[in-house]
Amino acid sequence: MNAAKRYIISCSFGKDSLATILLAKKHGEPLDEAVYCEVMFDKTISGEVPEHRDFIYTRGIPALERMGIKVTVLRGERTYLDLFTGRITRGPKKGMLRSFPICGRCAVQRDCKVKPIRRYQKSLPPDTIQYIGIAKDEQERLLRLGRNQVSLLEKYNCTEQDAWELCEKAGLLSPVYAITDRGGCWFCPNAKRRELRHLYDHHPELWARMLELQALPGKATEKFNRTQRFSDIDAAFRQEDEQLDLFREAA
Ligand code: SF4
Repeated sequence: MNAAKRYIISCSFGKDSLATILLAKKHGEPLDEAVYCEVMFDKTISGEVPEHRDFIYTRGIPALERMGIKVTVLRGERTYLDLFTGRITRGPKKGMLRSFPICGRCAVQRDCKVKPIRRYQKSLPPDTIQYIGIAKDEQERLLRLGRNQVSLLEKYNCTEQDAWELCEKAGLLSPVYAITDRGGCWFCPNAKRRELRHLYDHHPELWARMLELQALPGKATEKFNRTQRFSDIDAAFRQEDEQLDLFREAA
């Protein structure tokens, strides 16, 4: 092994990246650093689902540090709010607020996640090995692994279910899996109904921020996701609650 070579992992603190770290430790694989990029809603509020953010800072990072792994937290220069309130500079919508990110072409992914990670990667030696948490049953994603990218889950024959069990056994399974099976921002246009309902029920202060944004005038799009405004989703949940109340009163 080249002594100067660096080994890092991109860590979202989801089951696949944490299981990769657990496997590296178990099998004595070299690992110098875990790099986590936190998307921010604004300067102070994280874009992580709050339960996952708590897990990252109160359990995930301390556990890695106890294992002797350096943890680097990256944040982009721009936040969701910066992107939302930025103005379009050309074309027919010039001057309007950029507003909600587009499904499938998320500017948050590009500016708040990919950019800071790429900038950090450029500061590393070019032969740095990057572990990527892709399970052996994710063949399509494994085929897309680039040069100097390695899946320890594949090397040690670990499926997504195995990764789940490894993390659970180590007490390192994020509580976010009780809400969703995918990682992502709480304001994601790809969020499933169940995730949005969780936000509505348990984080009304975040929900209110989205309704405030929906109410801003001069937006390039009124749609939060492919089909609905955020206010439509809010109205639907309120209606569900009212019907439930009526049902309870009648029972
Ligand atoms: S989770 Fe959703 S909102 Fe966040 S960066 Fe990815 S696509 Fe964009």
